[in-house]
Amino acid sequence: PFDILVVGGGPAGASAAIYAARKGLRTGVLAERVGGQVNDTAAIENFISVKRIEGPQFAANLEEHMKEYDIDIMNMQRATRLKKNDLIEVELENGATLKSKAVILATGARWRNVGVPGEQEFKNKGVAYCPHCDGPLFEGKRVAVIGGGNSGIEAAIDLAGITEHVTVLEFASELKADSVLQDKLNSLPNVKVITNAQTTEITGTDNVNGISYLDRETEEEHHIELEGVFVQIGLLPNTDWLEGSVERNKFGEIIINEHGETSIPGVFAAGDCTNVTNKQIIISMGAGANASLNAFNYLVREK
Ligand code: FAD
Repeated sequence: PFDILVVGGGPAGASAAIYAARKGLRTGVLAERVGGQVNDTAAIENFISVKRIEGPQFAANLEEHMKEYDIDIMNMQRATRLKKNDLIEVELENGATLKSKAVILATGARWRNVGVPGEQEFKNKGVAYCPHCDGPLFEGKRVAVIGGGNSGIEAAIDLAGITEHVTVLEFASELKADSVLQDKLNSLPNVKVITNAQTTEITGTDNVNGISYLDRETEEEHHIELEGVFVQIGLLPNTDWLEGSVERNKFGEIIINEHGETSIPGVFAAGDCTNVTNKQIIISMGAGANASLNAFNYLVREK
């Protein structure tokens, strides 16, 4: 068996694995796709000390750094079940079962897509999901935010400070965000909120040049010219496979404490799959290191 089995090979998982291997622990990493979400990122400009790096290069660096150590990397493998007997057992889609004294869950998350024409085509060409990551790219430009929940309105407030103008498109007849956020939004001069708006298409040529929506009351089609669209309709943690094992909150995020511990002793979690408030590379990596050091402490006490 492994001492530490990490499920997930993104920033959180890679960091957890390297910290474990540096303790001389028998370490395994199981990942559907080593590198995780970073593979889909154009450029990263907020990983402090690295001014700018392409996402795929960053993902390759994660893998290369793990390969410096004696880490058993099992790429393109999907975990389907976790249970605890004497050891913690992780079942794979291919039928195999891996056993480990401790497990670190780092399966990340994915942005919910709006699913309209243009969204896939213009990803990283005007269609964005993370205002902390991509907001500065739209300095002085016009953007739309799709989604009027808390994350959408937080994004709109954030973007109003950077961009020339923000249009919020909300499908329902009113915003769902907390009233303090709505009050703040309404105090800003360069924001417009459109409710009952069903996004129908993101338009463009090389890059985004506009967004079309249907006014659900009048059934009229409208088009707005702009340069960017932030989709803010939810971040889904990759935790469905944990149904019935570790405790999760109503969003499906794994609940952890400050030690990175879950509800099952010996099972830790880190990064975007957990209930941390901010989901970023640098934060996931710190959380992976934290969980790994605490898993090491757990193993020392178990032996
Ligand atoms: P992830 O990166 O999601 O990695 C999860 C890992 O788990 C992957 O290896 C995946 O294959 C694996 N996995 C999932 N389910 C299973 C399973 N059942 N079995 C086995 N393996 C599984 N952050 C920034 O800080 N700066 C940026 O500029 C930035 N830009 C972004 C741009 C885009 C387009 C996107 C999508 C995200 C961006 N982010 C950015 C966010 C950042 O990528 C994430 O916060 C970070 O990758 C989270 O790391 P993680 O390891 O927790 O999860």
